[in-house]
Amino acid sequence: MSLRIVVTVKYVPDATGDRHFADDLTVDRDDVDGLLSELDEYAVEQALQIAEDADDAEITVLTIGPEDAKDALRKALSMGADKAIHVEDDDLHGTDAIGTSLVLAKAVEKAGYDLVISGMASTDGTMGVVPALVAERLGVPQVTLLSEVSVEDGVVKGRRDGDAASEQLEASLPAVVSVTDQSGEARYPSFKGIMAAKKKPVESWDLEDLDIEAEEVGLEGAYTVVDSATERPARTAGTIVKDEGEGGKQLAEFLAGQKFI
Ligand SMILES: Cc1cc2nc3c(=O)[nH]c(=O)nc-3n(C[C@H](O)[C@H](O)[C@H](O)COP(=O)(O)OP(=O)(O)OC[C@H]3O[C@@H](n4cnc5c(N)ncnc54)[C@H](O)[C@@H]3O)c2cc1C
Repeated sequence: MSLRIVVTVKYVPDATGDRHFADDLTVDRDDVDGLLSELDEYAVEQALQIAEDADDAEITVLTIGPEDAKDALRKALSMGADKAIHVEDDDLHGTDAIGTSLVLAKAVEKAGYDLVISGMASTDGTMGVVPALVAERLGVPQVTLLSEVSVEDGVVKGRRDGDAASEQLEASLPAVVSVTDQSGEARYPSFKGIMAAKKKPVESWDLEDLDIEAEEVGLEGAYTVVDSATERPARTAGTIVKDEGEGGKQLAEFLAGQKFI
């Protein structure tokens, strides 16, 4: 039977863009271009490698996000995923990590899965909690933060590297894993891949399709509240140390003054 892999991919604001908060203290996503979270490219890559090693596998990429989030799906499809699911609903505005995990878990269940692969964290929220929350909601094992991952005989295996030691972990499928940026360079989409992606199916689901009430998500259903947010101060001119024989000393004094050393 086909190995069904679902990769959760997030459409995030471009970190090089000028990002702002909206009046309700949510991130103003209309204001800045977005893209597939770089850390989720590693998840897509691992899914592709697992599928290449399997007799028969199908990769579905799943995102929750606004209309433009389809760009993230297209990128993943052009890397080689087979099909995509886009969850979009106005009532999702302001959804927090717990709400996001509810929607992802329901969508993964509806799609059907043996293995869910996520990034280690999104590059905007960077909470790194969603994969564990999704696993808990699905009631399946979670093997998170893997720098190496493989699937054999219904078991997912991987290596988690810590500061002091590396652990070899495994879990029986179905399971949720998350992979780190050490898991292996993500491939670039080929021209053929980009053309093929245009014809791959992208399904759109809303909250009703997933049997989720509006109050369970969005700002209303959020367990976390942003009380205040401050814009990053504008950059000031840096300090220039001119080396006229005392450059090293001046540099050390500057660093000590800033409490860096
Ligand atoms: C429709 C929508 C509207 C939102 N509106 C706002 C808003 O207005 N203001 C605001 O500040 N935040 C908003 N969020 C962001 C939301 O709060 C975060 O997505 C959530 O808190 C998860 O935190 P994280 O991104 O840090 O996840 P992490 O735990 O860091 O993510 C880990 C992994 O989980 C998966 N994942 C996470 N989010 C998604 C996703 N959306 N789709 C697919 N996979 C995912 C990815 O594989 C990712 O690598 C919104 C999210 C959605 C979906």
